[in-house]
Amino acid sequence: MAMETAPRRRREFDAIVIGGGLVGAAIAHGLQCGAGLATALLDEGDVAYRASRGNFGLVWVQSKGLGAPWYQRWTRASAAEWPALAADLAARAAGTDVGLRQPGGVHLCLSGQEFEERAARMAQMRAEQGNAAGFDYRMIGAAELRDMLPGLGPRVVGASWTPYDGHANPLRLLHALHRAFVLAGGAYVPNAGVAAEDCRAAPRDFTVVAGGAPWAAPRIVLAAGLGNAALAPRFGLAAPVRPQRGQVLVTERARELLPMPTTTIRQTQEGSLMMGDSQEEVGFDLRQKPAVMREIAARAVLSFPWIARLNILRAWSALRVMAPDGLPIYDQSERFPGAFTANCHSGVTLAGAHARLLAPMIARGALDPMLDPLSARRFDVHAAA
Ligand SMILES: Cc1cc2nc3c(=O)[nH]c(=O)nc-3n(C[C@H](O)[C@H](O)[C@H](O)COP(=O)(O)OP(=O)(O)OC[C@H]3O[C@@H](n4cnc5c(N)ncnc54)[C@H](O)[C@@H]3O)c2cc1C
Repeated sequence: MAMETAPRRRREFDAIVIGGGLVGAAIAHGLQCGAGLATALLDEGDVAYRASRGNFGLVWVQSKGLGAPWYQRWTRASAAEWPALAADLAARAAGTDVGLRQPGGVHLCLSGQEFEERAARMAQMRAEQGNAAGFDYRMIGAAELRDMLPGLGPRVVGASWTPYDGHANPLRLLHALHRAFVLAGGAYVPNAGVAAEDCRAAPRDFTVVAGGAPWAAPRIVLAAGLGNAALAPRFGLAAPVRPQRGQVLVTERARELLPMPTTTIRQTQEGSLMMGDSQEEVGFDLRQKPAVMREIAARAVLSFPWIARLNILRAWSALRVMAPDGLPIYDQSERFPGAFTANCHSGVTLAGAHARLLAPMIARGALDPMLDPLSARRFDVHAAA
């Protein structure tokens, strides 16, 4: 077959998003479907590390933002946007049910010390929110918790509870975001890895070569997960993200019903239990470790002894996209206005915010001041040229 040598025609868009994981797809969805911008979504493909295909599926608020109340507010805003996102996707993506359930959630404590530490954490988060935002939570003792969660193990001494928490089917979410984007006229381009040296940046004028063709737009969003670290400097941005491994176990379907998710155990719509998820600093290493899997399963069985009876059917590991302080990073380039970056390790939880709050900001050309504390400037990094 003859190789194609002639340069392919330059394709002009209102916006380019690099990276078709949960973060890029949610933003692209918001730009194309919400803001009506002609958007190209350039995605590297199956060789990439993809947190979006290996996560746990929580839409989780209660553990987010200790010492960083702005992150708690952003997360809560996202959880509040989620029902509208789910409804929008059901309408646009041929009725795809992304499985959103927001019944509240609990963090189980297996010792008195864990309970006390959790209580202190939750109290601090409420204090940090102040009266205006508030933070609705309760520490629940063992007796009441047993009524809420039948089958709870004797080792569980209590839990923290908030009404904000929930879960969804992350693969259906990813699929629905892509499907709705394409049905609305968005250009999804697979196998289109973008190399920093193939990008040209000028204020509100960007061209990247990917998939053998040039793509141009006055706005560009770097949402390539771990790939952002290499791309960002080319656009006068910084994305100091590192991989953090997490392992997940999935059981056969259970006849018991878990009425709400916990931080590390949730029941899928189909009835399987998902158990997770570790936090391992091992670089770009996707191997699974039996010792870690044992630990995950042991804690789940202490929480709900009936889980011991279930067979584990699947297990995997995936790499989180982690900033040095664990918070998201959002920026617009000062040197090249129109270039944005978005990085986070809670892409399911934040999908509501990314599609419905962040994308309109990008369309308008300015990030809301509420995101200022989430700029990479907090690391005092100096963006490379
Ligand atoms: C074990 C585990 C459990 C998790 N549990 C939860 C949870 O319960 N709730 C929650 O909210 N979050 C959870 N997360 C985090 C969530 O999965 C991530 O925040 C989210 O998937 C990040 O999405 P992303 O799009 O930034 O990155 P990715 O999913 O990694 O996607 C990056 C995309 O960019 C593309 N790409 C990369 N480089 C380039 C390039 N140079 N050019 C073009 N394209 C490129 C890739 O092809 C890929 O499609 C979990 C993560 C892990 C690993």
